[in-house]
Amino acid sequence: MDAILTTADWHTRAAALQPRKQAFIDGQWVDALSGATFDCHSPPDGRLLAQVAACDSADIDRAVAAARRSFERGDWANATPRHRKQVLLRFAQLLREHRDELALTETLDVGKPISDSLTVDVLSSANCLQWYAEAIDKRYDEVAPTGPGSLALVTREPLGVVGAIVPWNFPLIMAAWKIGPVLAAGNSLVLKPSEKSPLSVLRVAELAVEAGLPPGVFNVVPGFGHTAGAALALHDDVDAITFTGSTATGRQVMAAAAQSNLKRVSLELGGKSPNIVMADCRDLDRAAQAAALGIFFNQGQMCSAASRLLVHVDLKDALLERIDALAAQLQPGDPLDPATRLGAIVDGPQLQRVLGYIDSGRAEGARLRSGGQQCRLESGGQYLQPTVFDDVQAGMRIAREEIFGPVLSCFTFRTEAQALQLANDSRYGLAAAVWTQDVTAAHRMARALRAGMVYVNCYDADDITVPFGGYKQSGTGRDKSLHALDKYTELKTTWIDLT
Ligand code: NAD
Repeated sequence: MDAILTTADWHTRAAALQPRKQAFIDGQWVDALSGATFDCHSPPDGRLLAQVAACDSADIDRAVAAARRSFERGDWANATPRHRKQVLLRFAQLLREHRDELALTETLDVGKPISDSLTVDVLSSANCLQWYAEAIDKRYDEVAPTGPGSLALVTREPLGVVGAIVPWNFPLIMAAWKIGPVLAAGNSLVLKPSEKSPLSVLRVAELAVEAGLPPGVFNVVPGFGHTAGAALALHDDVDAITFTGSTATGRQVMAAAAQSNLKRVSLELGGKSPNIVMADCRDLDRAAQAAALGIFFNQGQMCSAASRLLVHVDLKDALLERIDALAAQLQPGDPLDPATRLGAIVDGPQLQRVLGYIDSGRAEGARLRSGGQQCRLESGGQYLQPTVFDDVQAGMRIAREEIFGPVLSCFTFRTEAQALQLANDSRYGLAAAVWTQDVTAAHRMARALRAGMVYVNCYDADDITVPFGGYKQSGTGRDKSLHALDKYTELKTTWIDLT
């Protein structure tokens, strides 16, 4: 890894980058059987990055067959825990060694700032793989307390073939949250990246084989959701689907499992997370900083974005003035400039979708305080100013629907009960936060909030050791932590008669 690269260095490297664009099946690079490709454009400037294999159900069949063969061969599933650990540790290390290349690929593919791709996306993906590698030979099975006449063993076994379908907002991290525990548990994997962000994970699959993973254990099949994704979810020889994406697609994935072989389904879906600032919040600067980054980081394209700010009426002006000032500083820039904090929106349709929500906020009577405009038009890419709406009412679309862009909706409240009522008035339940100095109120409110992750006096605290996932229509099951391994293992009970 080079020490410090300038914007010009990154542009030179970007011009020379030759991303992988075929599917990676059974350890080989292959075209789609149909020969079809799709164009992968770069959000920072709209240029054509690659023409990527547009795989469909025939390619999914091929990848699932390769994964099944590898599972039955047993050279991964039945390898010693120590061996699996060593391969995955090497895999994590290879991600670190290819940090610049992977970060550049990620930035060009989805438009996020290069400094984030380097320090967040690649490193946290590598750390995730390392953490699951280290867990492999630390977990023990159980002997049940059945009495002296018998021995009952409760053991964990890999499921077999796992299909993973992932979104585009954090292509590497979302994939790593699947790859780590799926492979650590001894399964074989068929991963379908988003059609908006297929490139980095294709390279990662190649690194896995370089690290010593047997061919066929980790396959990547790029393609569209309604073709490749749907075929994977419907496949009769896939034992589980682990899905991250929108609630609407999650519903289709669950229906596909029900229509086929009742494969196990886990869903990490959308959110509309409340960030509550109580009247006794002492450090408004910190709360404003967290509120701004909670919605503007990654251009607001975060499932756990703090998209609803609920502020006590007495603090509203002081807090929103600070957030407006931060929004003014956080203007989008060239994603390849290491100083840029806000990059491009992933593509034109997503930008139009977010602009549509901004129009609907205005039309429904919310007050636009900051932003709201497309910018950097001369770049050829898609950029949007950080946007803040005030006077938002609970029935408005910008109050209820996931915008998935840098748009903050602010509400006010007078009492704790009102704050909790507003916070829980959502079909989603991914994350929530409370800012208060009152430790009793913090615990009381954390219990009352219907969300998978609750932050107190912080937002988006993150560590691989803790589960990530939602209540209600934000999903079922959890990524990260040792709990994720439960999704990818079967429990077997074996009775032995000792009499
Ligand atoms: P999406 O649902 O449009 O697509 C996600 C993936 O599903 C893509 O790979 C897509 O090709 C595939 N897909 C689409 N239709 C399919 C079908 N019929 N069958 C099978 N697969 C299909 O979501 P997106 O726009 O890529 O991602 C944004 C969404 O992801 C947001 O709602 C966000 O909140 C959510 N998300 C959730 C988490 C979490 O951990 N809870 C994390 C990141 C993103």
